[in-house]
Amino acid sequence: MNLSGYRKKSPWILHYNAGSCNGCDIEILACLGPKYDIERFGMINTGNPKQSDILLVTGPVTKRSRERLVEIYAQMPEPKVVIACGACASTGGVFRGMYNCEGGVDQYIPVDVYVCGCGTRPEQIIDGVVQGLAILEQKTKELEASVKLNNEAIEENHQVNRRHIAASIK
Ligand code: SF4
Repeated sequence: MNLSGYRKKSPWILHYNAGSCNGCDIEILACLGPKYDIERFGMINTGNPKQSDILLVTGPVTKRSRERLVEIYAQMPEPKVVIACGACASTGGVFRGMYNCEGGVDQYIPVDVYVCGCGTRPEQIIDGVVQGLAILEQKTKELEASVKLNNEAIEENHQVNRRHIAASIK
């Protein structure tokens, strides 16, 4: 199985609350519980951005959380997928325009999947994560293809260099 196959079967998730009312966060916790059991898709909720494939963000981006959100995103290895969970993460929702809020997540980092609802339901979150998995698989394939092309170019370069050295020795 190639890398995209492993990732799809065992993605690691990072949950970040960028300023939510906790409504969407409770629904994410419900997904992790035995009733919805998101782990059946091989997922683990991890606390380390450096080991995460999927970033689940809830809430509007507040002025205080903005910098941390961008930092967490930057620490995640490629390929990665961002899911905006709920109306606030997607657009700012009911907090849009408030003095301490910056709006939706996509103003600061690229978002791959938008999950609607206030608060968003566990079924919608699971659906969003499954959509995110398809995007993650596609991104992994694209990355693997570009790495392969790069390796082929490096190998070709080495062969040309070896030929030059052999010719200069003769
Ligand atoms: S979408 Fe609704 S439940 Fe979710 S963080 Fe915003 S206000 Fe709270």
